[in-house]
Amino acid sequence: MSLHVLLIEDDRQLRQTLMAALQNHGYEVTGSASCADAQAVLLHHPQPIGLVILDLGLPDGDGKDLLAWLRQQQPIPVLVISARHDDAGKVQLLDAGADDYLVKPFSVQELLARMRVSLRHRGMRVQSPVMHYAHGHLVVDLTRHSVQLSGEAVHLTPTEFKLLARLVRQAGQVVTHRQLLTDVWGAEHVDQLQYLRLYMGQLRAKLEARPAEPRWLLTEPGVGYRLAEPPAA
Ligand code: CA
Repeated sequence: MSLHVLLIEDDRQLRQTLMAALQNHGYEVTGSASCADAQAVLLHHPQPIGLVILDLGLPDGDGKDLLAWLRQQQPIPVLVISARHDDAGKVQLLDAGADDYLVKPFSVQELLARMRVSLRHRGMRVQSPVMHYAHGHLVVDLTRHSVQLSGEAVHLTPTEFKLLARLVRQAGQVVTHRQLLTDVWGAEHVDQLQYLRLYMGQLRAKLEARPAEPRWLLTEPGVGYRLAEPPAA
């Protein structure tokens, strides 16, 4: 399973850009726009968070307070991202337990590099993220953004691809409706189960020989969906 990152950033556009970039690099990402929501994710998310990216200016509080709270909870690496750039502030944050500090604007490559360093410093092995799925005639390559069925390229819409990619990253495991809706459409669409049904229907129509009896895109009734586990290599 890929490393699960919690991105706490209230700027919607930046949050979505970073989430997409991190997902493209094989990380699982949960986005959060406030201190309260981030705390709920940290306490209750079924998958443990392996790294936190923390913006300081949040609508319901200061990221510094969240950092202090987090440090009392668990030893997760925390990268602070902020527009503030005074050196005293940086030192304070590092003293308060932040692993590193990035001043906005920064490049995605820089963020990825800092994430790797933080994980290494903490002795956490960076698990190689799942980027490839091959099972029978279906081959999905997330790095190349390609889907092939019996050697033929299958064209998916961006949303169809995102949904499939989310399942590939956790192949063999059930992914709940809520997780899929949050990760593919965003937290504000968590109740739009009809989106999920519609797009799952489209994916099955494109990939499954018998959409009503799927081989790969399996339904877990009342819970979510599971991409069939590929046979051991
Ligand atoms: Ca902010």
